[in-house]
Amino acid sequence: MKKDKRNQQDFSRRDFLKTTATGAGAAALTGLGMEQARAAEKPAHWDKEADVVVIGAGATGLPAAIQAALGGASVIVIEANTGVGGHAILSGGNLALGGGTTRQKKYGVVDSPDLLFSDLTDWSVVEPNGFPDYRYNDKEVIRAFADESANTYEWLLEHGVVFVDKIPDTLGGHACGNSAPREHHAAPMAWPLVQNGGPLPTDKGATSSSGVGLIRPLEASARKLGVQILLQHKMTGLIRENGRENARENGRDTPNSGRVVGISAVNQGKTVNIRARKGVILGTGGHSSNVNFRRIFDPRLTEEYQVAGEPYSFQDASGEIAAMSIGASLWGAFNQTGEFGQNVTKAGWIGCQYGYVNLSWQPDSPIFSKARASGLFVKDYQDAILVNIAGLRFYDETQGQFPANNYNSIKTYTPRSYRNAADVKYEPSNFINAALAGTGDTTPGGGPIWAIFDADAAKREGWKVTPPYVDTVEGYFFSADTLTELAAKIANKFQKKPMPPGALQDTVTRYNSFVDAGKDADFGKPAPKYKIQTPPYYAAWATPVIHDTRSGLRINGKCQVMDLNGEIIPGLYCGGESAGGFSLHGLARCAVQGRIAGKNAAAETVKG
Ligand SMILES: Cc1cc2nc3c(=O)[nH]c(=O)nc-3n(C[C@H](O)[C@H](O)[C@H](O)COP(=O)(O)OP(=O)(O)OC[C@H]3O[C@@H](n4cnc5c(N)ncnc54)[C@H](O)[C@@H]3O)c2cc1C
Repeated sequence: MKKDKRNQQDFSRRDFLKTTATGAGAAALTGLGMEQARAAEKPAHWDKEADVVVIGAGATGLPAAIQAALGGASVIVIEANTGVGGHAILSGGNLALGGGTTRQKKYGVVDSPDLLFSDLTDWSVVEPNGFPDYRYNDKEVIRAFADESANTYEWLLEHGVVFVDKIPDTLGGHACGNSAPREHHAAPMAWPLVQNGGPLPTDKGATSSSGVGLIRPLEASARKLGVQILLQHKMTGLIRENGRENARENGRDTPNSGRVVGISAVNQGKTVNIRARKGVILGTGGHSSNVNFRRIFDPRLTEEYQVAGEPYSFQDASGEIAAMSIGASLWGAFNQTGEFGQNVTKAGWIGCQYGYVNLSWQPDSPIFSKARASGLFVKDYQDAILVNIAGLRFYDETQGQFPANNYNSIKTYTPRSYRNAADVKYEPSNFINAALAGTGDTTPGGGPIWAIFDADAAKREGWKVTPPYVDTVEGYFFSADTLTELAAKIANKFQKKPMPPGALQDTVTRYNSFVDAGKDADFGKPAPKYKIQTPPYYAAWATPVIHDTRSGLRINGKCQVMDLNGEIIPGLYCGGESAGGFSLHGLARCAVQGRIAGKNAAAETVKG
């Protein structure tokens, strides 16, 4: 096995596994909320087999499967969900691919793999809160991405993805480098959107951007190449050559060892063991939906926070946990802990459980019964105040999160010069931190956040305060004729204690006095405009939304998963949001790493 020279520390993987996969370790995994993901025992017989088994049919898994099939491998993709696509099919379809794509060249954008690499490893670039986007990226991982980024753009075209024909820009981009515009936009064409249940109007198909325009062509291409996609198959464990039953040493369970030779999955309650002759690729999409796992990085992210992409697709960390239980390491944890602009966002749609600003669930969506309401879009936060679990305001509601770094974020940019930071205007206001801080009691997270408004505000915004726009059934929207009645009504599984009715009344009375005074003496909201005074009064769920996973399993430039000793775990690959070392937002790193993993897995030569 190859040893990574950067980490020669003699950390015993066995010691780590003793506390995770077995005995006390089983409890540790249960504690992570993922008791099903584990090191599985080698089965007596395999139910299915292929050269390469890919876990997850999203932005990483589909490119991985296609590339492996192109390399001559037989491929099975297993997907936990009832449909393909994961977060990617819901996404905006904006791909930060650079390094000299034909689209960049067509519009005169100068870029190269070296420039992309330089941008994505530049320690000197910071956001307005001082957090560095690129400083903690792993250079080997970034080099591999930079070298394959432009090729991936051409490859996506070959596999049927249509990109909007315009100059690459910055729309949807976070942490994709200062030197060149790199966002390319996948056109949805006539594919139906999961969130709407139908296609966009014909005139918008080729000029808008949506993840469906990435995923559906890739799915078609994979199927054409003979890739077998098994839906509703959830990977529950990874199997190494010397499985647990063969691995007792000195009378104790010991970690298994050797190649990853397959996986176990569950389909409709039945275990399915699938042999992977050459390799297993994890494209499971990260951990943002797993409360215990995400709190490893940020203890504030307790259960009440929404997650973009739910309830269609849950990032439950099963890939990470299964890999960790056979010895894999996490990597680049700062990229998850760092407060990057878009990682936690303000709710855009309120009054529903799932209110990510760029995703509204419409009644014709095939999963609307799970989402239950499409929400009310807030055009102007002058129309509402936000209060916490105790009915107290905590910030200027018109504030948002920090902007993300992107092309030209720093205007006089000198690569790797500390002076770059001097050109970034320090921005003290961040709504999200105040929301996550909560009431200052011992509760680790910030608790629920409610938007409070009155009948006049609903009129100004044009809101219809009834289902299917708001969720009155599960407790994400309430109304009452007085503020004390409203506070008493607010109750759902996340509102752990009643809101003191007097507190909400006092908060509104004080806010109304700020409207009279033309000045918010508490939080500096610019000239509060409207009193909250006309019944009925409303409380709408407006708790912040978690977005990206930017830390995950340790991989090398070939997307091989590595253990705590810096050794490769043979036969195991990972890419996308489940992989660590790379803070770029979204689809581009997934597609590129999926291809890299697929190519290398298919090329494995395995004896026997
Ligand atoms: C609303 C929204 C908008 C976005 N817009 C953009 C954008 O415009 N540009 C951009 O770059 N990024 C965007 N993103 C982010 C982007 O979609 C993700 O970064 C990307 O899809 C991650 O790819 P992935 O392969 O890691 O995971 P996913 O695409 O989520 O795929 C993971 C798949 O693995 C499956 N899976 C997980 N665990 C298992 C298991 N144990 N067994 C079997 N299957 C499993 C999941 O069900 C899922 O289908 C957006 C995300 C959201 C939610």
